Amino acid sequence: MIFIESNIGKNSYDIHSMSKAFYPHEDVKITECDIHGNDTSQPVIKAENCGKVGKLVYKSDTGDMFEIEVPADDRDELKRTIYQELSLRTGISLPWGSLTGIRPTGMVRKRLESGMSDEAVMNDMRCRYYISQEKLQLAMEIAKREIELMKPLSPEKNYSLYLDVPFCPTRCLYCSFTSNAVGRDRSKVEAYLEALQKEIKETSVIIKNKKPDTIYIGGGTPTALLPDELDLLLASVEDHFDTVNVKEYTVEAGRPDSITKEKLRVLKKHGITRISVNPQTMNQKTLDIIGRRHSVEQVGEAFHMAREEGFDNINMDMILGLPGEDTDDVKRTVSRISELGPDALTIHTLALKRASEMKEWLNENGYPDTPDTAAMMDIACAGARQMGMNPYYLYRQKNMAGNLENTGYATEGKYGIYNILINEEVQDILALGAGAISKRVDSEGNTERSANFKEVHDYIANLDEMIERKRRLWVYND
Ligand code: SF4
Repeated sequence: MIFIESNIGKNSYDIHSMSKAFYPHEDVKITECDIHGNDTSQPVIKAENCGKVGKLVYKSDTGDMFEIEVPADDRDELKRTIYQELSLRTGISLPWGSLTGIRPTGMVRKRLESGMSDEAVMNDMRCRYYISQEKLQLAMEIAKREIELMKPLSPEKNYSLYLDVPFCPTRCLYCSFTSNAVGRDRSKVEAYLEALQKEIKETSVIIKNKKPDTIYIGGGTPTALLPDELDLLLASVEDHFDTVNVKEYTVEAGRPDSITKEKLRVLKKHGITRISVNPQTMNQKTLDIIGRRHSVEQVGEAFHMAREEGFDNINMDMILGLPGEDTDDVKRTVSRISELGPDALTIHTLALKRASEMKEWLNENGYPDTPDTAAMMDIACAGARQMGMNPYYLYRQKNMAGNLENTGYATEGKYGIYNILINEEVQDILALGAGAISKRVDSEGNTERSANFKEVHDYIANLDEMIERKRRLWVYND
């Protein structure tokens, strides 16, 4: 445990995430104390605020203690100071430097769009955040590709539609989503679908004068639904939205154990253009540990079945940093995925939320929760490039193994546009279903959000209120 006493009175999130990145194996706890150090929570360490200079006092439970004097009023400078000090003490350099935000490519893109030269952008990002040359080049490449891919879009005429299906065949050990195992009792699924159809109907008329240009059905695992349920849901979308003229219609099939020929035919019938078949790893021992309840062979079978049914844009997801995996496991996964030949590969780095079941499992079974993910990332990215893919979107999360990133790769013409839109926040997203977050983006790029309740029960019980909130977001703001 690392205790940090701060007398700054703000930016606790930044102080926490910056410090946690240097001490990934430790729980980090921040206590605020006032100007006189009158904190009542333990441990009590005096820290004095002198004008605009604040103080952070670090104390480990083994008794080590040191102080960092920090600028209290400048957020970037505060993070830079913590970064420099902790980097010096630990000997660690972080790939994304002092950057704690989740959208580094957006920062690069905005600078490029403002007319800054490549060199000026690189220098600015390097000096401001200490980002490594390798990550800066990756962010530049992606930002430029995003700019090109977004050129044909018109946010003033279009929006994206997202639907959430929060059910899965079983719950994976590392899952941080609100996912419910479908089980034998379908009544919860039926009640959910009924509510979702009502939300589809009531909200389809809210965004006037705009049409969806991408639709994404995620979750969860939408193909955990029965073929009839899937058919019903997709028909409802079709009845209320223009699905014929969309540029991209994705269903995240996800778990291979949920994919059948019948369901793939339902997807085809409703014009789905892009699906995911996600192995996460192609090592059976890891699949068993993380509770995926499917075999490596099933991944190949589901993939071939989808190809046979005519799907020519298939993404596969993999996760780096899964328990017990080393670089050889990652090489095996990349090689087996490469044999299948998907059109896109999304490389995730495991992000562990503190309370997740997986974190407990790792602790109990003695697995380090941050293996050499940087080397794994190099292998996976090189593999994606060898498959003829280019990186086209990137985002970061809190507590990512190795303080790395998630990156989507795809072959030319198979980029998932919705993935860019959800990350870059450049156009409206009408998001329906449990936990879905709608976003309205104004012409200045400011975003207003409206979040649905996460739990299925709460979602069903509060449906009218959530519909009304969306109405307020779009209709009353016009
Ligand atoms: S398939 Fe995805 S959403 Fe479903 S339980 Fe596993 S990690 Fe969670």
